[in-house]
Amino acid sequence: MNALPTPPSSLSPIAPSQYNADLHCHSVVSDGTLTPEALAARAHANGVELWALTDHDEIGGQHRAAAAAKALGLPYLTGVEISVSFLHKTIHIVGLGFDPDDAILLQGLRQTRGGRDQRARDMAEGLAQVGIHGAFEGALKYAGNPDLIARSHFARFLVENKICKDTNEVFRKYLTDGKPGFVPHRWATLKDAVRWITGAGGVAVIAHPARYQFSANEEYALLTEFKGHGGQGMEVVTGSHTVAESVQYADIAREFDLAASRGSDFHCPNESRIDLGKLPFLSGNLTPVWDLLQHRIQ
Ligand code: AMP
Ligand code: MN
Ligand code: MN
Ligand code: MN
Repeated sequence: MNALPTPPSSLSPIAPSQYNADLHCHSVVSDGTLTPEALAARAHANGVELWALTDHDEIGGQHRAAAAAKALGLPYLTGVEISVSFLHKTIHIVGLGFDPDDAILLQGLRQTRGGRDQRARDMAEGLAQVGIHGAFEGALKYAGNPDLIARSHFARFLVENKICKDTNEVFRKYLTDGKPGFVPHRWATLKDAVRWITGAGGVAVIAHPARYQFSANEEYALLTEFKGHGGQGMEVVTGSHTVAESVQYADIAREFDLAASRGSDFHCPNESRIDLGKLPFLSGNLTPVWDLLQHRIQ
């Protein structure tokens, strides 16, 4: 009998890309607890080689982040994470490498932030109905930027008042769909979010896709519509994914010909599961999103 043929190269182990890019995190400009400068220092100390600050619906921290990164010799990409309503769920689209002074992007983000204040008041009312009083004022104390009052700020208030032991428990019991503090909200459309980013010269990336728990058909709709509008990337390795989910979404990124991104989604030293720059590497058989953004690195 003949010797067994050598396996095709696609079955041999694939060396990961060893590049420590971390392209997703939050500062006090949205719902993180560190300043852009402190994040830059932490990313640098943790060995990050390419960094982006991606505050929710706000790019007011971009000039500070870029300046702090530059002072440390840390390559930087501009970033944002836009809240989008899609198929009755909230999803997040990360933008990377855009012009932070683009007027249409700035106006779109301003419009997206509008409504957070009323939503927060409605959330506080829902919480008051189950006996938790003063949540609006309590959450506001944690929001460096009152325009960006987020569920994370409510979570910190409930933990501080010992109503829950950690933010995870708050989300599970109070702040997710069907729970007393949850208020459905209309965010940006997928089309607008992708166009604001690409119109400003950036690349649009689907954030933490495993979080949405879409059916296969819904996910297909998201990926095809996203690409149709000009979206080019998807987070594969993120603080929100298990290792199995990263493997699954690596396959999906290849199947849909999307570039792969890597980001911790770091918010706070004692809340976040994964620190800046401490993620597993991207698999070597993916196109890293930074390959599309070389000309935008500062
Ligand atoms: P919002 O934009 O106000 O709806 O708040 C969403 C933010 O809440 C996210 O950006 C995360 O920072 C945080 N978050 C969402 N789900 C969870 C969860 N299960 N546990 C902890 N934080 C969460
Ligand atoms: Mn957040
Ligand atoms: Mn997110
Ligand atoms: Mn995030």
